[in-house]
Formats: sequence, C-alpha cells, structure tokens
Amino acid sequence: MFERIKLPYSYDALEPHIDKLTVETHYEKHHKTYTEKFNDLMKKASDMDGKSAYEVLHSLDKLPEEIRTGVRNNGGGFYNHNLYFESLSPDGGKPSGKLAEMLDRDFGGAEKMLEKLDDAATTKLFGSGWSWLVLKDGKLDIAISPNQDLPSQKEKCVELLPLDMWEHAYYLKYKNDKKSYVEAFNTIVNWQVVGERLEKAKV
Ligand code: MN
Repeated sequence: MFERIKLPYSYDALEPHIDKLTVETHYEKHHKTYTEKFNDLMKKASDMDGKSAYEVLHSLDKLPEEIRTGVRNNGGGFYNHNLYFESLSPDGGKPSGKLAEMLDRDFGGAEKMLEKLDDAATTKLFGSGWSWLVLKDGKLDIAISPNQDLPSQKEKCVELLPLDMWEHAYYLKYKNDKKSYVEAFNTIVNWQVVGERLEKAKV
C-alpha cells in the first residue's frame, strides 16, 4: 500500500505564497486521487509487491501492458507529489554544506539556480509537467519532464527539487501568471530537505 506523506505543515502555512485552498485541494484531492488510482492499479501487478514506487516507475516495461500508462501517470503523480510537498516549508532556511557548495560551483549560487529552474518551468515546458533540480554526472543541473514523468526515467540522474507546473498547483491564486507562482515557490523551498536528498544521492 502506497501512502501519501503526511503534510508537514498546515494548509495555510505557505500563505501568502501558496494559498490555503490551493494546498488543501492539491493535497486532499489531486494527490489523494493519484495515490488511490496507483494503489488500485498495482493490485494487478502482484509480482511488484514490496517494490518502492520509485522502483516501479523505473521498471514500467515489466508491468502488464494494460496498466502501464495508468501506473506511469498515477504512480508518477503519487511519487512526485510526495517529493513536492516535502520540498516546501514556510521557513526553509538557506542552502548549506555540500548543497551550498555545489550550487555555487554549478550555478553561481541558489538565486541563479532558481532563475534557471523558473525559466525552464515558464518558457521551456509546454503544457502540464515539472521543472527539476537534479544531480547528473556529479553536477547539479536543471531538467523538465512532461505529465507526471521523472527525469530519471529518461536519463541517469537523481531528482532533488521538483517544481509542479500543472495548473492545479497555482491557478486558483495566480491564474495564468506562472511567473508570480514560480517566484513565490522560490521563497518557500525547504533547503534542508533538498540538502538531505543530495547527501543520499549516488550519481
Ligand atoms: Mn500537482
């Protein structure tokens, strides 16, 4: 049984950057539905019992064909939203240690990295999808993915920070103003969590 992370803050904790109704709807409706559908589909793949969602999403070709697309979309939705909600915090601090060093080395600092993350999100991605900070070939890099895909399904990398660019992530408050949404996102990144992901990453 795959379970959503418990939201590590209250629905209104990210105000005014992300409003209460958006967080509540995103977590209680969208994330919940991805999770339920993923669990439902995985009942038809009992030989995957015991595998993590990440492992399932990286062995889609081993699934029965009839559930492959559903698992790709809903399992991806489940996995990505756990990462996303965990990546936000009303008081996310600043990058430190190895993360701060690598942000300086590979981008010239966190601000410059966020500019690239936001630029990829608002100008390179078309339609629903995600913009990402990833670790690839020993360096930090920016990637985009369509729908609920992960960059690591396409190339060897580790996802460190996801930016959800589905309209449901921002439309209630920001309407079509993606730029204001990504600027708000920049201020509520949980840098400690991102740093921990980097420490654990092996690419
Ligand atoms: Mn979303």
